[in-house]
Amino acid sequence: MSKRYIPQRISKAVQEKHFFECAWCGTIITDRHHIEEFSDGGKHSIENLILLCPNCHRQTHQGQISKKELLERVNLHKQGDRISGSIFLQVTKRKVITGGSTFIDTPIIVKYQEENIIEFQKLKNGKYTIKTKFYDINGRLIFWMNSNRYWSAVPFIVESERSYLFIKNRCNPQYLSIEMENDAIKMQGINFLGGNFLHFTKDSIKFAGMDYSMNFKVSTIGGLVAFKF
Ligand SMILES: [Zn+2]
Repeated sequence: MSKRYIPQRISKAVQEKHFFECAWCGTIITDRHHIEEFSDGGKHSIENLILLCPNCHRQTHQGQISKKELLERVNLHKQGDRISGSIFLQVTKRKVITGGSTFIDTPIIVKYQEENIIEFQKLKNGKYTIKTKFYDINGRLIFWMNSNRYWSAVPFIVESERSYLFIKNRCNPQYLSIEMENDAIKMQGINFLGGNFLHFTKDSIKFAGMDYSMNFKVSTIGGLVAFKF
């Protein structure tokens, strides 16, 4: 029968494989995590263990980081290729001006193939923040943000306070921009979804060369999703 205890030899090999840093966010305080859970028969092996920080470990057990995402990551981790940080954005209203429309109480702003790309996330204090992911043209995940934490591929710059958030990098001055304007949130940015270019401003939204800009002023789009591709 296998034991709960991870042999020291395996533990050391896993730590070395992941450069003593969290494989998901780059933090240097780490736990070991079984990708296939130990209680489900997952082995104490280098293939099934990954190094995660306590925050990412908790979010993995909460389902915020999936098994599929960890399996994709486990052999791609390069030392220092992700840096982590915190954001401060907290808003009370869910009135969003983007893509030429105003959306009220629409929890998901952009959805692509059943995956939420930009969505509101309720915080413990009852306020909202934004959960998002950015991909590059090759489908590589290059930015991840959840529960006021983020990691980014190294060249990103994140500026945030309670009422604004700007995410940019040297290639693009505006990956995502969120600003309070009177009582509404003005949202604009870019992303690549399935290799297609998404560009949205306050006044228009274009995806894969198609114009989805809407002309009505206030929408709840079935109450759930603003833009579904
Ligand atoms: Zn982490």
